[in-house]
Amino acid sequence: MTEKINLLDYDRVGLESYFLKIGEKSFRAHQLLKWIYQHGATDVESMTNISNDLRTSLKEITMIKLPEIVSEKKSKDGTRKWLIKVDEKNFIETVFIPENNRGTLCISSQVGCALDCKFCSTAKQGFSRNLKTSEIIGQVWLANNVLGNFKNKKRIITNIVFMGMGEPLLNYDNVLKSINLMTDDYTFGLSKRRITVSTSGIIPGIDRLKKDNKVSLAISLHASNDELRNTIVPINRSYPLVDLLSACKRYTEGKNDDPITIEYVMLRDINDSLKDAHNLAKCLNGIPSKVNLIPFNKFPDTHFSNSNYGTINAFRDVLIKSGIFTITRKTRGDDIDAACGQLVGKFIAKSAKHQKITVGLTQC
Ligand code: SAH
Repeated sequence: MTEKINLLDYDRVGLESYFLKIGEKSFRAHQLLKWIYQHGATDVESMTNISNDLRTSLKEITMIKLPEIVSEKKSKDGTRKWLIKVDEKNFIETVFIPENNRGTLCISSQVGCALDCKFCSTAKQGFSRNLKTSEIIGQVWLANNVLGNFKNKKRIITNIVFMGMGEPLLNYDNVLKSINLMTDDYTFGLSKRRITVSTSGIIPGIDRLKKDNKVSLAISLHASNDELRNTIVPINRSYPLVDLLSACKRYTEGKNDDPITIEYVMLRDINDSLKDAHNLAKCLNGIPSKVNLIPFNKFPDTHFSNSNYGTINAFRDVLIKSGIFTITRKTRGDDIDAACGQLVGKFIAKSAKHQKITVGLTQC
């Protein structure tokens, strides 16, 4: 028997062609998307404006399969972190960060990560696999469901950031389909500006994203010279700084030229000197950008430590004096290990002979 197709693996264009292929009108795709992503339906039987015959055949050949929330932690600051099972062996984490006037969902794009950034906890676990579109958009669906958004018809999730586990631009096709879904009027209808893809600098992916669906871009820069960046963000050896900065410039050219967010984790005595700050300002000259200084969050077995706050402030002042909008990112959810780079959820599998499975995620 051929496996049923998961309707959550398709964006609107994909679903439209699927319906045409099975001899239906393409508008069926729109009805289906509304049911799933606006009403929270997970069973075609409840989709009352779809004919009985079509419902019966959809039940035979398709499914609506979501990943599964295994546990939840709530921080005293309101941050919520979910451990999500994507298959028998693989788990990811998703974090919701409420603020006064917005709610940000931080999602994962891969199980683990292959990039080996030295200050990142996900890197320690290596790479397991890419997430499917259904597992990426599934995180958004599950969070909406838990937060009561389908029932209340409220928009509690206003922003989505790909700052969880994995490198989104190395899972390009599935990430793009999930972004297409998030921004579709038949689903969540989020504005592109409210979706941020964070990358450690995969240049071909940056150029493709500009063409395909130009959402907000964040670059995990963390160093302003190749020598240091080669060491702490090893992908720099393939995509060196000068080329990455040119790609950033290209990304901002044209209409809707939102600034790029530059992420810079503050590592004591590694990248936090005033010379580093001046050098960073030079690098960003001519690129519409804003800088987020991220206090380093410790995790077991790391030899890095956070810069002290005086150092971070002095670093920030150099950037501001150079005319670069700079903020120090607030640490959220650290009491539940949900702050940047701290998310190393431990899950003891109840089955699988008490095998211990550790999942981790870095988020901001
Ligand atoms: N691979 C993507 C997205 C995941 S990381 C990327 O590199 O951008 C999301 C952000 O958290 C990145 O800026 C990353 O560098 C930062 N980060 C990772 N580990 C951290 C830690 N221990 N403390 C603070 N920030 C960290």
